[in-house]
Amino acid sequence: MREKLKALAELQNVDLEVASLRKAADVHPRQIAELERELGVARSAIEAERARVSDMEKQKAQLEQNITDEKDKVKKWETRLSEQRSTREYSALAREIDIAKKANLTMAEELAELTKQLGGAREAIKGKEADYATKQQGLSGRMTELRGKLGEAESQVKGLEGRRAEVASSVDATLLRRYEVVRKKKLPAMVGVVAGTCQGCNMNVPPQLYNQLRTGLGTDICPSCNRIIYAVEALQETPAASK
Ligand SMILES: [Zn+2]
Repeated sequence: MREKLKALAELQNVDLEVASLRKAADVHPRQIAELERELGVARSAIEAERARVSDMEKQKAQLEQNITDEKDKVKKWETRLSEQRSTREYSALAREIDIAKKANLTMAEELAELTKQLGGAREAIKGKEADYATKQQGLSGRMTELRGKLGEAESQVKGLEGRRAEVASSVDATLLRRYEVVRKKKLPAMVGVVAGTCQGCNMNVPPQLYNQLRTGLGTDICPSCNRIIYAVEALQETPAASK
């Protein structure tokens, strides 16, 4: 009985190792996805900034056009001013010119402010693009690293699968069948019973069943979680004492 138990325990160790490797390897695709998401966020930030700059450029062009138009108007009016004979008309036009010039001054100030803001926004894009490039570089390095780890884990799993086949061949056929069924739902599929408590579900097994496990050193099924159970004493004994 003990030998059967030991063989199955060894098989389960292989399965647990494979499961933990797979679990660890699972983290890598998620990390890659997270890095890609971060990069996407950085990309969107740059695009938003670019749209803002493009808006400001349009505003600036419009403002420049307005200033040119106003200046042309003032020039025309000034020519007309020199041709004025009537004092009343002269002073009316002179006032218009004054107003237009003041408006132009305001627009020129606005243009200067906009130009300054535009310069700042362009610098900000440069900074963000540098950040993005750094992030991208980091990401590709990290991806290579993660892919390497993934490949490593896969080859370890492959190695373990070979060993598993070997170990499985020495497990009792009936026990193996049962184990394979439980393992698909629960791992570990075989657990010890310590002081009457199943280590898989922490429920007490019926005292009679526990006694049977201890005296027979065999296996049974936990009535609560359906795992294969055995008395831990069965595996704890020294090999010489049990045979
Ligand atoms: Zn249980």
